[in-house]
Amino acid sequence: MQKLLLLAKEHALPHAIIIECKNSTFIKNYLKEILQNAMCTAKEEKPCKKCRDCVKIEAGFHPDVKFIEPEKDSKSIKIESIRYIREDAYIISNEGGYKFYIITNGELLTTQAQNAFIKILEEPPKNVIFIICTEFLSALISTIRSRCQIFKCLEDEDINSSAEKLGKDFASAVLNGDKIKTLSISGKIPNDRIFFKQFINVVIGAIIKNCGKFFFKKDLVGKIDVLKSVLEMSEKNVNFNLLVCTLCAKI
Ligand SMILES: [Zn+2]
Repeated sequence: MQKLLLLAKEHALPHAIIIECKNSTFIKNYLKEILQNAMCTAKEEKPCKKCRDCVKIEAGFHPDVKFIEPEKDSKSIKIESIRYIREDAYIISNEGGYKFYIITNGELLTTQAQNAFIKILEEPPKNVIFIICTEFLSALISTIRSRCQIFKCLEDEDINSSAEKLGKDFASAVLNGDKIKTLSISGKIPNDRIFFKQFINVVIGAIIKNCGKFFFKKDLVGKIDVLKSVLEMSEKNVNFNLLVCTLCAKI
């Protein structure tokens, strides 16, 4: 999930994204983060949370961000809403940058609406990004799934508060280049795969969030790569001690 924030910051978001997530509070905040990373106009630390774009996104009223939801008194998103997107998406954005269309409950799209949506995805308008959030990926027809990049929300599991604390401490030690502290923190990681996964995700998130304008310094990008590769290793059931050793040796 951190990958999307990174892509947003680098202005490299794919034009069609599906986010599968069961936690509606999380997704709401997460979308704000993506939008602010992508649209912040500050020259240095992004997102600044202070520029006009950041503030509008925070308030939920950005003219170039449209949320597509069911009409009043309806429980589904109908083809009319998609027709509206088709007309609107080809108009250049108010602020001259990206335009976002966000469908917050993708599972509510009728089949007819989904079929109409495919046509837009086939000829994507320039500088327009579509995000479909859904609790159930399977509710979307395969032709939509195949045209979007799919991201799954790890935060569906409740984050263990000590994993969060340890992860944040580890991230700040990494950012400060404090090798001894990274070693001592890694000695405290319990042998528990879910904890480990959450820990690494917190570290990645905290590094991206805190390093701001320094992010593009090569060594930080390299460190994020190390963290991601350790995360992949943990998914392949690599021996726990080896995971921690790799983390300490390479970070
Ligand atoms: Zn900003």
